[in-house]
Amino acid sequence: MHPWIAKRTESFDSSGIRRVFDLAAKLDDPINLSIGQPDFDVPESVRKVCIDAIETGKNAYSQTQGIAPLRERLAQEIQQAYGHDDREVFVCSGTSGGLVLTMLALVDPGDEVLFFDPFFVMYPALIRMVGGVPVAIDSYPDFRIDCQQIADKITDRTKAIIVNSPANPTGVTASQEELKALAELAAERNIALISDEIYSSFMYDEPFTSPAAFNPQTIVIDGFSKSHAMTGWRVGYVHGPREVIETMIKIQQYTFVCAPQPAQWAGLEALDVDLSPHIDDYRRKRDIVVEGLKDRFELVVPGGAFYAFPKAPGGSGAKLVERAIERGLLIIPGNIFSARDSHFRISFAASDETLERGIEVLRTLG
Ligand code: PMP
Repeated sequence: MHPWIAKRTESFDSSGIRRVFDLAAKLDDPINLSIGQPDFDVPESVRKVCIDAIETGKNAYSQTQGIAPLRERLAQEIQQAYGHDDREVFVCSGTSGGLVLTMLALVDPGDEVLFFDPFFVMYPALIRMVGGVPVAIDSYPDFRIDCQQIADKITDRTKAIIVNSPANPTGVTASQEELKALAELAAERNIALISDEIYSSFMYDEPFTSPAAFNPQTIVIDGFSKSHAMTGWRVGYVHGPREVIETMIKIQQYTFVCAPQPAQWAGLEALDVDLSPHIDDYRRKRDIVVEGLKDRFELVVPGGAFYAFPKAPGGSGAKLVERAIERGLLIIPGNIFSARDSHFRISFAASDETLERGIEVLRTLG
């Protein structure tokens, strides 16, 4: 370890996921079912607005909290959905930027933050980065929210709970009842509820529900990366109680400064794009994966996002992934997202042909 490097960077490790991507780089024409972003491009009208913004000189810093037209439009939609008195929104650099600011704004050293295992890889890393203590709640085998399990983990130091529905890496969507119970528990115990809603557009069987519908103090983080395939454009937004949001804006001013201005104008346009053809297409892809694997693998049917998280026969996701890679199929071992190594993640954000080829390989391993 180089003597200049800060201790906090030792508290998390990204070698697992890097290993998978290094392998991907070595494979010649892999069947790639490892990717965490849509396989469609940014909608044409959105691309055009971004280009126009650049060409008409909208290239400077924006206000830290985001361009007014986007903020006002988001505020209007949020007001319509929730009608909370004390709710403000600001634009940040992707959902990841929103997560970083949330952690910096809420978590003091030693504070405990609860989240569900399997989890999005950033959660424990960011909690540790700010000196917090990650507390995982095991949600196997069905990946449901069990409030008793949460209540058992709450201590005097519990500051926040992170929920992510639809979820990465399982694709599982929490039911209204689960979200209501979770929202009420957080309110009762005065714990911040952080809802990562990056996959909210990708719901296949029922309309999206946010825990903010049941707990007006919920901090919601969302963005355009997945819904509009804008992962490289870095536009997200956070809404929640005014004081919390103002604190986050203050930190953004001294860190990210603002989200890229041309991409914010594109975000405003994105709110008018009809995503339903893409969602219908991804529902169909979800069905292809479930139909193709259900007789060979133990699998919770994903109700959203674009991931499936089957159990590896034989019990080791890492071993199954090794065998898959030998056959040119790139998928991600569950232990990247979990304390357990029993499952593996497939992304169905891929062409039908790639999906069919991937399923064919998986069936030889199942
Ligand atoms: N949350 C979850 C659950 C994700 O899967 C991702 C992207 N993989 C993010 C946040 C980050 O997305 P963004 O591009 O908006 O930073």
